[in-house]
Amino acid sequence: MNTRHTTGAATTHRVVILGAGYAGLSAAVQLGARVTGREDVRVTLVDAQERFTERLRLHMAATGQRLAELNIPELLEGTGAQFVRGWVTAVDADAKTVRIDDERELPYDTLVYGLGGVADTTALPGAEEHAYTLNSTGDAKVLADRLARLGSGTVVVAGSGLTGVEAAAEIAEQHPGLNVVLLGRQDPGAAMNPKAGTYLRSALQRLGVEVRAGVEVLKVLPDGVELAGGEHVAADAVLWTSGTRVSPLPAAAGLAVDERGRIVTDATLRSVSHREVYAVGDAAAIRQRYGVMRGTCQSGMPSGVHAALAILRALEGKRPKPFRFGYYHTPVSLGRHDAVVQFTRPDDTPRRFCLTGRTAARYKETVTASPRPTWVRMKKMPSSGAFWRRGGRFTRNREAQ
Ligand SMILES: Cc1cc2nc3c(=O)[nH]c(=O)nc-3n(C[C@H](O)[C@H](O)[C@H](O)COP(=O)(O)OP(=O)(O)OC[C@H]3O[C@@H](n4cnc5c(N)ncnc54)[C@H](O)[C@@H]3O)c2cc1C
Repeated sequence: MNTRHTTGAATTHRVVILGAGYAGLSAAVQLGARVTGREDVRVTLVDAQERFTERLRLHMAATGQRLAELNIPELLEGTGAQFVRGWVTAVDADAKTVRIDDERELPYDTLVYGLGGVADTTALPGAEEHAYTLNSTGDAKVLADRLARLGSGTVVVAGSGLTGVEAAAEIAEQHPGLNVVLLGRQDPGAAMNPKAGTYLRSALQRLGVEVRAGVEVLKVLPDGVELAGGEHVAADAVLWTSGTRVSPLPAAAGLAVDERGRIVTDATLRSVSHREVYAVGDAAAIRQRYGVMRGTCQSGMPSGVHAALAILRALEGKRPKPFRFGYYHTPVSLGRHDAVVQFTRPDDTPRRFCLTGRTAARYKETVTASPRPTWVRMKKMPSSGAFWRRGGRFTRNREAQ
């Protein structure tokens, strides 16, 4: 870990962070803020986009709403981290290099992998070809253009998880002329307490969303979807929100991955197979006492900060601490003026307490808008980023491996 790269008289430890999403950018700001002015550590953040992708708002982008321009190099200003724009095409874990745009190579001593995940369109026939996704701002814009052109007709939202619910509600509210059908195996809000779940379903009803739970989509077709049992649900557009697929890069690099392709980490967020690689956010399979963590923004940002702190500790020859995280809420927007916030135990199970209506909508907006001020604050006072819910007894007794 204490590898140093020698350039002339100076020795520099090169940290390369892949992905400027919620997790990777948190790692870069935290680490960059703590090494400003140091010659012995160089931090480089790589992402395909110079504009930060606010994934939490992609259902808004998909209905033509304008999102704020958050510029990654500007967010890094004042820190010791530099930005490289490019598409990561390969990681060579033996040579410790990252290939960018298939033409440049970036060497590293420590790698932080935070390239996130996308909806899994590969598992279902026709989804790659015919379904829209919320995988990137570009994909959301393609759907927005389609919806704007439609005027009337039917939109099928496949997947009744939280992304599907938020998207269905947003489309129904922004495009009242469209029929929105939400299809999924489970009732929307099934993981919430009965009050929150009932509120969520009645809000979908109020917005005119037709919910069909307990169904299995077998195929996406040019004109709709086919369900198990052979029923054809006609649609002018199908939005696929189900499953999460991680890039094949880590597996191709020979890193230990789980069945979903996520990098398996030890308690300190280091790859169990490659000690100089850390994994954060949706691309990491991070085990807590309650199980492998579900990818969210609320957990992704702390994982990035933790990786930054672990790297600094390792550079100082100290033992990195285990990452402990406990969930605290699930905020779900139901259009622009309504929402439900389910408060949770650290293991993500629902508590009795929830918020609904306009108060919940304000809460949700505050949470969604909070990453930027968090990073700005972290630049001035890095320790401010190191506070999150550790999960108490739900995560205690985790030893660094
Ligand atoms: C519509 C929607 C609503 C959501 N709402 C919530 C919510 O309310 N609360 C919540 O906690 N979570 C929510 N999520 C989930 C949340 O967005 C993710 O858990 C979070 O974005 C994960 O952060 P990350 O940093 O791991 O990955 P991401 O935020 O996805 O960032 C990955 C970054 O890597 C870049 N990248 C990917 N591949 C490459 C490559 N090969 N080369 C270069 N760059 C690359 C991307 O451009 C991106 O900037 C929502 C997701 C969606 C789609």
